[in-house]
Formats: sequence, C-alpha cells, structure tokens
Amino acid sequence: MTNNNDNSFFNAQKPKTFPLSLVMVFIMFFTILNIGNTEPIIPILGFHGIIDTKTSTRRLYQGEMNYPREDLEKLIEYLIIHDYWFLSTEDLYNFFLNKSQEISAEHRNRKPIMISFDDGYKTVHTNLLPILYKLEKKYGKKAKIVLFINPGTLASQKNADSTHLGCQELREGFKKGFYDIQSHGMNHKNLTNLPRHQLVNELLQARTELRKCTQDLDIEQKVASHFAYPYGAYNKKVKDYVSKYYLSSYLYNNQILNYGCLKNYYKIPRLMVNRQKSTTQLIEMAQGLYQIKNKNKC
Ligand SMILES: [Zn+2]
Repeated sequence: MTNNNDNSFFNAQKPKTFPLSLVMVFIMFFTILNIGNTEPIIPILGFHGIIDTKTSTRRLYQGEMNYPREDLEKLIEYLIIHDYWFLSTEDLYNFFLNKSQEISAEHRNRKPIMISFDDGYKTVHTNLLPILYKLEKKYGKKAKIVLFINPGTLASQKNADSTHLGCQELREGFKKGFYDIQSHGMNHKNLTNLPRHQLVNELLQARTELRKCTQDLDIEQKVASHFAYPYGAYNKKVKDYVSKYYLSSYLYNNQILNYGCLKNYYKIPRLMVNRQKSTTQLIEMAQGLYQIKNKNKC
C-alpha cells in the first residue's frame, strides 16, 4: 500500500515537472519566432494586371502577368485580418529608409508590407478597386496599394476601350485613399538605352504629367516622388539621373527588402508576382518565409 501511495505521489508529481519542460520548449520556440519577426524585412510585392477568371476570355486569361482576382482578394483579406500595415512609398521612405519620422504606437507592432502594381492597367480599377471598397466596408480597414504609372499610356477620356487607366480613374482611387500614384517613366522605355536628353525627358515629363492629373488633390506634391525602373533596368547613369528627380526607386528583381542593410534608396528590391504564384506562396512572402527559402545577403 505504502509503495502504491508512494507511486501515486510520484506519478502525481510527474505531470507538474513535464509541463515545466514544455514551457521551456515553448519559451525557446517563441523566442526564435520573435527573432524572426524583428528581422528588418519588408516584402514588396510587384503585380501587373488583375484578371477576372469568371468573365474573361481564354485569350486574355492566359497573360502570365495577370493575377487572378479571386486569389488577390484572398491575399488582401488575409493581410487585413492579420493587421498588416499597407505601406505607401512615402511610409517606406520616411519610417524605414531615412527614418525621418518615428513609427507611431498605432503602427509599431504591425507587420509592414507593400503591394505595388506596374504599368497602369485598367483592371486595377475595374477588378481590384471594388474589392478594396468591399473589404474596407467589411473590416473597417483600408488597404493602400502603390501604382507605378506611365503617363504616356494613360487612357484619354474618349477612349473607353483602352486597356489602361485614365486620369479620372487615378483621381478617384487617390481621393478615396486607396492609390499611391508614383512614376514608372513617361513611355515605359528601357532607360539604359536612351541618350541623356531622352532619359531626362522620360523622368521629368512623367512627373509633370502625373502631378498635373492630381494637382488639386495633392497640394504637397507627393504624387510622382518615387520611381520604378521600367523592366527593372538601370545602370549608374540611369540611377544618377533618377536621383535628381525622385526620392527613391524600385527594382523588379525577386528579392526581399532588408532595410537594415539597404544603403542605396535607388535599389529597393521587389518580389515578382505572376500567375504561377499561389495565394499560399504570396502569404509566405508576406510572412517573410520566402526569405528563409531564398536567403538574400546584405
Ligand atoms: Zn513596367
């Protein structure tokens, strides 16, 4: 009996020590996780057009650079639910690159991400903006997106069939606080092939035209303050000229931004998104797990 009692006493003690070791394992696990979260990483996703797979013809649907609307909605909804901070180009520049502003308490513990769209496709307005309105209504949170636009391809008011956005559409999304409108050069030319005067024209005219479109809405002229190299193509000359007219510039090189070691504001990396990437893969990119698989060094 005594032995049994001893055993039951021993057995009763055992569970108390076991959870303690479990607690230690959890502490170590969450410490490791926490180190991961504090890494100075910001995923910047680079999209192009958005396709509605239910209504589009097969020919249009086959475009590699068109991302399915349903999958994009799932991604943005996930980011909203998990309280991601949708950065504008100005946010990234002020809070993370030159650190001229301190991150407010409201934003401090949120995971930053940037969602960008190049080339000004109309489908951003027709397929994505309604989703942004819908999600804002559902969750009371606004998802901001960055648009890198070529004013040379903007649709005129009369051209309803254009595949590209027009100034009025840009103004609507900007006024509602969904669009951060930035420059992608006047005519989407490979800037590394241009003589000096044409290069300057591509950079300056793009800025002038975009600011003309949003003039009355953008008193502080924040539109077209940042740039994305067409085709991601740049060299020293291009970079030097871009730095005369813009505060920062974005690449398209499938790397994740480590702002802890980014020395040059004119080489901001972006992750490339095409139809081959599933929502799950994009969520992994958002969580920074992509970097673990594809480690980029400083
Ligand atoms: Zn482009």
